[in-house]
Formats: sequence, structure tokens, C-alpha cells
Amino acid sequence: MTIPKPTEAYDPLTAEVRQTLFRECQYLSAEEKETLEQACAFAFVAHKQQVRKSGEPYITHPIAVTIELARWRMDLHTLCAGLLHDVMEDAQIKKSVLAERFGATVAEMVDGLSKLEKLEFNDQAEHQAESFRKLILAMTKDVRVIIVKLSDRLHNMRTLGAKSAPSRRRIATETLEIYAPIANRLGLNHVYRELQDLSFYAMYPTRYRVLKSAMTAFKKNRCDVIERVLHEMNLCLVGHNIEAQIRGREKNLYGIHQKMLAKKKKFEELDDIYGFRIVVNNVSTCYAALGALHSLYQPKPGKFKDFIAIPKSNGYKSLHTTLNGPYGLPIQVQIRTREMNRIAESGIASHWAASDHAGKEDENQIRTNQWLQNILDLQSRSANAIEFLEHVKVDLFPNEMYITTPKGKILTLPRGASVIDFAYAVHTDVGHRCVGAKVNNITVPLRTRLKTGDTVEILTSPNGKPNPAWLNFTASSRARSAIRSYIKSANREDAVALGERLLAGALSSLLPKQVAESETLKEKYLKFLENNGREWEDVLYNVGVGLTMPVSVAMDIANLAGDYMGGAVKLSPIHIGNGINGHIHLGKCCMPLPGDAVRGIIAKDQGLIIHRDNCNLLLKSPHDQQLDADWSGFESNDKLYDAALVVSSVDTHALLAAMASAISDVGGNIASVDTLSKSQAGTEGFIEFRFNINVHDAEQLNRITAALHKIPQVRKVSRI
Ligand code: MN
Repeated sequence: MTIPKPTEAYDPLTAEVRQTLFRECQYLSAEEKETLEQACAFAFVAHKQQVRKSGEPYITHPIAVTIELARWRMDLHTLCAGLLHDVMEDAQIKKSVLAERFGATVAEMVDGLSKLEKLEFNDQAEHQAESFRKLILAMTKDVRVIIVKLSDRLHNMRTLGAKSAPSRRRIATETLEIYAPIANRLGLNHVYRELQDLSFYAMYPTRYRVLKSAMTAFKKNRCDVIERVLHEMNLCLVGHNIEAQIRGREKNLYGIHQKMLAKKKKFEELDDIYGFRIVVNNVSTCYAALGALHSLYQPKPGKFKDFIAIPKSNGYKSLHTTLNGPYGLPIQVQIRTREMNRIAESGIASHWAASDHAGKEDENQIRTNQWLQNILDLQSRSANAIEFLEHVKVDLFPNEMYITTPKGKILTLPRGASVIDFAYAVHTDVGHRCVGAKVNNITVPLRTRLKTGDTVEILTSPNGKPNPAWLNFTASSRARSAIRSYIKSANREDAVALGERLLAGALSSLLPKQVAESETLKEKYLKFLENNGREWEDVLYNVGVGLTMPVSVAMDIANLAGDYMGGAVKLSPIHIGNGINGHIHLGKCCMPLPGDAVRGIIAKDQGLIIHRDNCNLLLKSPHDQQLDADWSGFESNDKLYDAALVVSSVDTHALLAAMASAISDVGGNIASVDTLSKSQAGTEGFIEFRFNINVHDAEQLNRITAALHKIPQVRKVSRI
């Protein structure tokens, strides 16, 4: 292959872009420029026969890619790889030829950027995934490979118009899912935002245009305010002797669109479309500027974020605050140093920038290396290229994590998700019945938060059922809605069961059992209600939650039956058993315990409330809403009930300790102690304590009372 003499052989368009490239490459040495010239000529010859979809000579593409790389101030190797990035794939140039001409480093980079031979694969997805894996592995060896790839993608996206609609959409999706997040991960912020906006335009051109014109109108309308804020901020900073650059800053259209979707808001309702960036000389000035601005406009509470003290995972550092500006306009402000600004805009690319930082391992590079190491781990854990691609995609979205099932299936969960979220992600039934879990083979509580890479095995039991407390440690909407709807239907079942018990009890003294339970009578009653669509279950539910009284329902039914026995309605007692939850509750006023003599009150919307039979509330409530109740069927278990004791005693040293040990000796659990009163009676001081205790039943409380009475100073022990 002959290398053409520069300028002569180039067509006018190529000559023009080539000139632009060399204008951007002023930072290179003369010798480096010479090498770049050779690479340019080599690529020109290699792509000689090729044209782009738009009709332009193909060589304009690699040159445009390299111009962008030069704007990021990348080194010579990267620039050469940019010029040559398509010669292996499109012109079948051998890697060994490149190595001989431009050195092994450039040849390795171009090889990493070349897709695998299509013929080797069964389908396109596999070809894509394997080629992507090759690219990513090349990146883990030399991160400059992906920087060239990002520049390549950026130019392809900028010139996407020439492609067909389906391939535009496919390329845009891939850009949003993979390349834009990679740019973000590497801190190439401007590339990240531009890739997002270009993809957004390719996928939703109309929405893009509408938002763009809304943005233009917004800036025009707010022009005066923006000017005024700029002016006031400037005066303020100068007044505080702070040297700073203030610039207006707008969110990218894709970011605005995402925010509108996430917050279900209109463009006009967003308050962070426009903001200001303040660049100062050093870190302490950042905080000084923050203080100065907070004295100018009032800061909005909860909006200050210190990403200098705690940088973001891609190395981003800045102070963020939101101020109440003129006319109540919220003003977002970012404050950072020049160095932070450079990293915020160019990220890892700033490492190769021609400056004194080149070659030095900075924080940002260490962070990138950690990420690359993580990618290698993902690779070793993936069964095949398609799975690897999935893993990388998940890794690129920091708000998601992926968890593996024992069989190797990967589930995506939001950050902060627990074992419960995982169980519901497997299947709703697995969630409903989960009773325990193993994370990485270790048994853990259900509330355990998961992290990316965990392998989780869920233990289920046929008797397992969701607990409302689970809502406190679930992060996924799927788990939360499943738990909520279960609780709702379970409460209904409880209420229906209680209603059935209450109604059967009320009917037992009025009708023979077989008559009371006949379907025709139930239908008659439903017809009598003249409420179309109401089911028998609804009748029971209403009784169960206290909306209708069992006695009145029973009387109506008995009248309809005709063979009304004529006796007075007598409700049979309710056997509480272990039914405390659902629609049987314990009164908070008298705190009854299993074993106490009790009665029930049917309360509207609450179901049956159990009170001790000497509770004042029983005297006040209508008798037809009351019901005899007993504890038959109750079996003691782990469940603890609240009780309260008031103890009057002579006040002496170490009294409280003596009482506490008396209570705990009998197995009582002290939840809290209050001192109620201290009184002088003669020479002896009296004191009154209230103990809130958790016990299993009334019998245990009696033993506690007896134990307290054994303390010589104690004069009186009473339940509340
Ligand atoms: Mn390309």
C-alpha cells in the first residue's frame, strides 16, 4: 500500500476536515503531528472505496471522531486509534500491519474497537454481545479504547439522520442503555448529556422539538430574572472578595423529559431547569462562596449537598444548593473549583489531557480502575456474552442492583431492596409464603438489605403469610403493592369470619340451625335488603366490622323465615381463642389479658373490641352492642400483651431495682417505668410508679403482683 502525499490526493471535503483536525492538534509536538499525518493518510487509502450513508467519503467519519478526541486533548496513541478505528473491520487490514506501522499499542486499541467476524455467529444478538464483550475486555486493558468508542458513537449519533428509522431506533436505544451510562461512569459529562439528547431526538423527534421550543420560550421569559440574579450574585461575591466565574447552566432535554415522567409534572412545574455554576480557585473558596450566597438569598432547607466531602461514584465533586431567588424563583447553584470543573466535564479523559496531571495516578483514575476491575469480575461470573452484556448494563445504572437466584437467574431490584423484595420479585406466592432466607448460603433475617452480586435463596412455608411490618423494609413497588393487597383481603376474610360467628350466635336462639343456614333464606334476606349486587359475604362483612348489628340482622332473617320460634334474641358468647388480630382487638383503656373476665363491644368499622368486665366503657355503651366473651380455645404462645401496674411504696434507696428484679424474676418484661407522684406523708416519703409490662396472660400478671407485694416497702399494687 502506498501512502498518498498529504494535500494532493485528498478530495476537497476530506482536505477540509483534515485541516480542522490539525488545527485542534496544536498541543502535539511536530514529530507527533507527523505520525498523525501518516495515520490519516493510511486510513484515507484503506477507506478509499467506501462512502457513508450520507454520500460523503467514509474517511470523513474517522477524522471527525479524531477531531473530537483532539478536543478532549487525548494523547497521540488515542488519536491514531481514532483515525484507524475502522480499518480492520471495514478494510480487512491485519493487526500485524498496524502493529508494524503504528506500534503494538495502537494495533491493540484498533483490534479492541473492531467487531468480530459476523460469519462466526448464529444470530445478531449473539454477534453483538460477543463483540461488546471483546470491546469491554479491551477497555479493561486500556481505558482509552472506550474513549475512542464513545467519540465514534457520538459522531454516529450526530449523523444518524442518514439511517433508516428502525436502525435509528436500535442504535439510539443501545446508546441510552450502554454508551451514555459508560460516559457517565467515566465522568465524560458533556458526552453523556449529548448522547442522551441525540438518542432522545432519534426516538421521539416530536417530543424533543416541543421541549426544545418550551426551553427557548422559558429562557426568553426569564431573561430579566436571570440577568438580575447574575448581577446580584456577582456583586455579592465581589463584595466578599471572592474571585469567581458565574455561568448560567441548563439541564439537557433528555434529563428534563425523564424528570417530567418520573415526577408526573409538566415542563412549567419543574423548578430545576435552569441554574448557575460558580467556579472558584480553591476548595475553601467554595465554602466561602456558599456562605456569601446564603446571605444573599435564603437557602431552601434540605437542598444543600456537599459532594466535595462525599464525591459521587464517578468522582464528581461540587457543592449544590438551591436558593429562594427574586419572585420566589428557585435558583439551583453548583459551586466548584476549576479542577473539579475539569473532572466534572471530562472525567477520565482529563487524565490524558496535555497538562501536568498527565501520567500521574489521580483519584479519578483509581476510581476508574476499580470499576474496570469490577467489570472483569462480572465477566468471570457470566456464563456467556449475552449475560455479561446484561450484567454490564445493570452495573451502569447505579440505582439498580442485581441479585442471583440459586439457579443463576438474575433479578433486578432497586437499591436498598431487602430479602422480601427479592422474594416478591421471584413470584408473588414466594413473597407471601416466605419465612426465611439464605444470602450467600448464610441464614439471615427477612429484613436484610441486599447488595449487587448476592445470591439469595428464599425459604417458604405453606403457613407463611405477609406481615404488615414488612412494609418497613421493602423498596420495590411490586413487593409493597402485593403486601398491601394481601393485608386488605386478609382483613376482609377475618371480618367475614367474625361476622359469620356473630350472626350464627344471634340466630341460634331464634331459628333451628338448618333453617338459619338454608340458602333460600339467605337469598330472601338479600332480596329484602333491596340492594342489588350485594352478596351474602357482604352481609357477614358488615356484621364483622360492626356496620350492622348481628341482633337486628338476626331479627330480620327470623321474621322472613316465618317459623320464628318467638324467643328473645340471645347472643351466644364469643370464644376469643387466639383470635387477637384481624377484627378482634383488645381495648386500649383497660388492657385486658388472656384469662381476664371480659366482654366484647361491637364497634363501627373496627369489629369486636374486648374489654375487662369492670371497664367503664361497658357501662356507657348500649347493651345490644355488647357480647359475652371468653378465652376458651386460648393457647399460650410467644405473643406478649401490654399491661400496666401502678405501685405505691415507701420511697427508699434501691427501691426501683428491687421492683425491677421482682418483675423480671417472674418473666415479666418491663417496657417502661414512670414516676407518677412523690408525696410527703409524715416523716415517710411515698412514691408511685407506673410500670408498663409485657406479659403472656393474666395469670403471669398475678404472679408479678404477688412478687411486688413481697417487697416490704410496697403498700399497694393495682392494675390500670
Ligand atoms: Mn466508526
